[in-house]
Amino acid sequence: MAEETIFSKIIRKEIPAEILYQDDLVTAFTDIAPQAPTHVLIIPNVLIPTVNDVSAEHEPALGRMFTVARQLAKKAGIDESGYRLIMNCNADSGQEVYHIHMHLLGGRPLGPLLA
Ligand code: IMP
Repeated sequence: MAEETIFSKIIRKEIPAEILYQDDLVTAFTDIAPQAPTHVLIIPNVLIPTVNDVSAEHEPALGRMFTVARQLAKKAGIDESGYRLIMNCNADSGQEVYHIHMHLLGGRPLGPLLA
């Protein structure tokens, strides 16, 4: 059984977070250290440590993450100007929190993908 992260506490509302959306499958909240004017994290409510742990049973939640991403991008007014969705996996990607999450970034030109 994978070890819970701070994101499980956010899902259960045990610690404060600016939750922008939540349903039975996913939760979306503002990143605590935003890298762009819009920086939202969209996560499955079930604990999946990395993308390597994804399986077919997770497909409804993973699909919902994209639906919520596009809805929140529209709500933030960045759907036409553009935005970036990022998921990091393991050390070389810079993954810090081992509960998979989709970064939704936008509100400024984001530049080249790799820094
Ligand atoms: P990673 O590098 O892809 O794992 O990204 C982890 C993200 O989680 C970073 O952008 C952090 O700023 C963000 N983060 C870590 N702890 C919290 C928190 O308690 N609330 C909101 N965002 C967090």
